[in-house]
Amino acid sequence: MDRIARAKESEENAKGHVTYATCVGTRLPLPSYKIVADVLKLRSPLVPPATANTHAHTNDESSTSFTPWKIIIITNTTSTKKGEFLLLSLSCAGIFYMDTFRRLPKPLRSTAPHGNLRKRKHSAVVDDRSPSTAPKASDALPLPLHLTNAVFFTLFFSVAYYLLHRWRDKIRNSIPLHIVTLSEIAAIVSLIASFIYLLGFFGIDFVQSFIARASHDVWELNDTNPNYLINEDHRLVTCPPANISTKTNIVSAPPKLPASEPIITPLASEEDEMIVNSIVNGTIPSYSLESKLGDCKRAAAIRREALQRMTGRSLEGLPLEGFDYGSILGQCCEMPVGYVQIPVGIAGPLLLDGREYSIPMATTEGCLVASTNRGCKAIYLSGGATSVLLKDGMTRAPVVRFGTTTRAAELKFFLEDPHNFDALAVVFNRSSRFARLQGIQCSIAGKNLYIRFSCSTGDAMGMNMVSKGVQNVLEFLESDFADMDVIGISGNFCSDKKPAAVNWIEGRGKSVVCEAIIKEEVVKKVLKTDVALLVELNMLKNLAGSAVAGALGGFNAHAGNIVSAIFIATGQDPAQNVESSHCITMMEAVNDGKDLHISVTLPSIEVGTVGGGTQLASQSACLNLLGVMGACKESPGSYSRLLATIVAGSVLAGELSLMSAIAAGQLVKSHMKYNRSSKDVSKAAS
Ligand code: ADP
Repeated sequence: MDRIARAKESEENAKGHVTYATCVGTRLPLPSYKIVADVLKLRSPLVPPATANTHAHTNDESSTSFTPWKIIIITNTTSTKKGEFLLLSLSCAGIFYMDTFRRLPKPLRSTAPHGNLRKRKHSAVVDDRSPSTAPKASDALPLPLHLTNAVFFTLFFSVAYYLLHRWRDKIRNSIPLHIVTLSEIAAIVSLIASFIYLLGFFGIDFVQSFIARASHDVWELNDTNPNYLINEDHRLVTCPPANISTKTNIVSAPPKLPASEPIITPLASEEDEMIVNSIVNGTIPSYSLESKLGDCKRAAAIRREALQRMTGRSLEGLPLEGFDYGSILGQCCEMPVGYVQIPVGIAGPLLLDGREYSIPMATTEGCLVASTNRGCKAIYLSGGATSVLLKDGMTRAPVVRFGTTTRAAELKFFLEDPHNFDALAVVFNRSSRFARLQGIQCSIAGKNLYIRFSCSTGDAMGMNMVSKGVQNVLEFLESDFADMDVIGISGNFCSDKKPAAVNWIEGRGKSVVCEAIIKEEVVKKVLKTDVALLVELNMLKNLAGSAVAGALGGFNAHAGNIVSAIFIATGQDPAQNVESSHCITMMEAVNDGKDLHISVTLPSIEVGTVGGGTQLASQSACLNLLGVMGACKESPGSYSRLLATIVAGSVLAGELSLMSAIAAGQLVKSHMKYNRSSKDVSKAAS
């Protein structure tokens, strides 16, 4: 076999080892030696060129670009042996392998040390952005990883031994060392390849352990600054140990923050100055300021100043003035240092059940208010929407444990027996004049019983009320079920602030359905689309698409957007947006296919008009705008129920408009116009 054929064979071998590698071979003749230059161009098998450049965060050119590898083989024509080419092939394979090994896509924003790559090969831990079926570097190997390691180890030591042996002979025979045969060249290449492999595999991890340790030291030094040692802050534990990143492969070392200057703002009095110093030194706990000073505004100002000095970070931009700090004391927020401003926009009028409402929406998402407003207009021009409140009951489900499953079952039967309901309701309802027990649903898991109490709560969202009622019942049960061990007042069968099928199926808070028939000309002129397109999109996106995604209560386009914006404006608990946004949107062509019937069903809207954040000035103003501020004197519970229907009606408007925008292909266009700042953000930041 001539050298060219063998060189080709070597290329083929290499291709076999690395799926995506391409080889280009050229030959350069010399008088007594031949130089074969193989320019090997490699591409990472894990990053296709078309998508590689989209990883703008990586900033790593080498992960996407082609790298030429030039191997010059000087060989005496007569001394070429099969064994030499075998060695050469192995070397090429090694270099190919090194390339694939190095070019794993870097995690976005990750500064994880390269040593992680080794861990990635050993463990099943994968980047959570990559599908688990993504090719790994080791996939390119014809052998299992441990065998590959063994091959390279053997190769390294055997060629090292061979070369030393050869050079000793040359020295003995007075042959110049730089005159080398093909076998020596192959041995040198093999030595380098195996060395690079072993260094990459074992060495970098070792080196990185020093680098990681060094960066961790920097954090430790900062943290031991006495100014940071405030007991309540526990700043020492905020920096994760460096080895976390190497273990999990996901968590990277925290970014090093630029050094900060101490910020000192003059205070109103010398006394305030002393208090700030005491907080900075840790002699006065920050949380005690309100009770010690008896002045909530002053407490917030002092805390804010102490915070700026401790962190060296300015809070300029976070307003302090213009807020009643007394109104949040013991109810809404602890240790305040200011308040965040969120703009409130108005959508509407929403014509719902024959009345008009202007919908306050607190949001920073451009387009949202405008889009909801368009939906309101379409509903208005079509004669308005209608809502029905199906259910109104807040739930709380404690978990209790017994010694046996039989005893747990006995309590279940007792609680679900209609004969016992009245007695239990009397005990439960003692919690508040507004709390009225509606039902008890039990679920058993072994010896543990989950008891889901449901009750009406007047105009309050009702979590406090229902919890008190549950406490009363548990105390009452202790006489008959003395062996009952109350594990927790909430056993997650409630289920609060988490997506759960129980809320989706059984409902929680207010369950509302809302509908409208949108006229054909309104669909065309206001929504700029047509009925058939909307119906098809709804079926494929909100129903089939959500089913494909395995949605739980998410059979809608963006109910969460409208629910969150109204929740924030009206002082609801924003975390309850989770279950309050559960919604199924249905669309159907009616009146001979000309008009659109649209409905939204939200089984767990959790709202109140008293308690929590609803009593704060801004939030009260928004509730007042809707005509549902505070408690309804004539019919307790009417305001909160009305608010729930307004939320559902607004969701209807939001769904209508966004779905139309998508059907008409306007979504991206309108977002580019209203949801993109034209300001130069980098300049703004500086
Ligand atoms: P939640 O139970 O939603 O956390 P809170 O317990 O904070 O609510 O607020 C409810 C309080 O408001 C209770 O003390 C209750 O007695 C009082 N309240 C006054 N009027 C009403 C009303 N119409 N509906 C419900 N609660 C009311």
